[in-house]
Amino acid sequence: PSADSFADFRTIDLRGSALTGAALSAVMPRPEMGGSGVEAPVAAILADVRERGLVALTELALKFDGVEQTSPRVPREALTDALADLAPDVRLALAESIDRARRFATAQVPDDVEVEISPGAVVTHKWVAVRRVGLYVPGGLAVYPSSVVMNVVPAQAAGVESIALASPPQKEYGGLPHPVILAAAEMLGITEVYAIGGAQAIAAFAYGVDCGAGEDAIDQVDVVTGPGNIYVATAKRLLKGTVGIDSEAGTTEIAVLADSTADPRLIAADLISQAEHDPNAASVLITDSDDLADRVRVHLSAQIATTKHGDRVREALSGQQSGTILVDDVEHGIAVCDAYAAEHLEIQTADAAQVASRIRNAGAVFVGDYSPVSLGDYCAGSNHVLPTGGTASFASGLNVTTFLKAVQVINYSRSALEEVSQHITSLATAEDLPAHGDAVTARFH
Ligand code: NAD
Repeated sequence: PSADSFADFRTIDLRGSALTGAALSAVMPRPEMGGSGVEAPVAAILADVRERGLVALTELALKFDGVEQTSPRVPREALTDALADLAPDVRLALAESIDRARRFATAQVPDDVEVEISPGAVVTHKWVAVRRVGLYVPGGLAVYPSSVVMNVVPAQAAGVESIALASPPQKEYGGLPHPVILAAAEMLGITEVYAIGGAQAIAAFAYGVDCGAGEDAIDQVDVVTGPGNIYVATAKRLLKGTVGIDSEAGTTEIAVLADSTADPRLIAADLISQAEHDPNAASVLITDSDDLADRVRVHLSAQIATTKHGDRVREALSGQQSGTILVDDVEHGIAVCDAYAAEHLEIQTADAAQVASRIRNAGAVFVGDYSPVSLGDYCAGSNHVLPTGGTASFASGLNVTTFLKAVQVINYSRSALEEVSQHITSLATAEDLPAHGDAVTARFH
């Protein structure tokens, strides 16, 4: 590679490879530790919050955020003041982002399904919102007011009654979360906001916290959602079961599936845009064109030189979680995309829509030159809280159903029950649970 090419962007050459299934997944670029190294310290934070509540939160705010705190609850005036001080262009942008997200979320609310199985035999699949949710908005290396929108809008569209929000305390803002985060919460009518970051915020929501006098107590929630770094994602994984979670929306990833028709300048820009989130972010190019891969590296080198967070970007792109995967053709590329299961997948090939329609595993798919990931981060209408680390093979991005659960309702008449009573008795006898059959026959004697 020439001196002007970003040579640290490694290459995995799968041309001619017959790998499929688990063997193909195993050679995908992933972070070195895969998160296992942080499980023990995160588990210790969770246990600490569970046992010592507010005292633990106060100590952790000092340790990780450098902030002295008496109560993590953000006062109401801080929210109204933040909105009053919000720059007009940012307020307009947030309003547009909210409007687009709301139109998409509202349309997702599923209808109940009621079926009359036979005369008088009615079963219903009834959607009900969970009562209370805790939403996490990141704020470490960067702050994410956009994540307020992405969390709150679908929760509100689902009809959640009680919504609490947490975001890390910021030293430069008197220990409160970033003011644009507070302003976004105020725009959406969210008044229960806590200055708590990281794994401790997820623990506070999952276990609840008794803050001494009681009136400041954080009530336990039913579901925790939101993106975050590896500590946040690991906390969600460990607490899944204690609470519901959306997905492991951890450190960001972008994969770009491109052929020789793609524009290397735009690909480099998109790879850099995700790398600027986090030194551990993953940026992956999947292509059948050696020449395109070379040209992307040249553009990476040129663009990194002028981008604001160059150091973070360079570290992310040099990591073993990032790089180019060379494939035989677009067909092979589709198989690699499914094996990688990217959080964000861009399709920049001839006939991009057709290729996109064949992808099974991705948090979100961005089709063609005019649908970059940055659009989805802020203003597409779609949600930016998406599964990472390969979990897109089974998990979905945040959406209205994340906050809903279905209750099955059974309502049979006497004659409808009588119609199947013999079958119930037969199956109950076959399972050696005769009292089950007796409970039915008792109704007819
Ligand atoms: P963050 O709010 O996720 O994390 C900051 C907190 O991390 C701090 O408050 C602290 O409590 C905790 N922390 C820091 N160092 C720690 C340590 N050594 N041990 C324990 N806890 C520690 O903010 P961030 O760091 O800027 O990360 C945001 C992340 O969110 C990025 O990785 C970004 O890629 C990701 N993200 C993901 C999605 C998605 O949907 N997957 C969307 C947006 C952002």
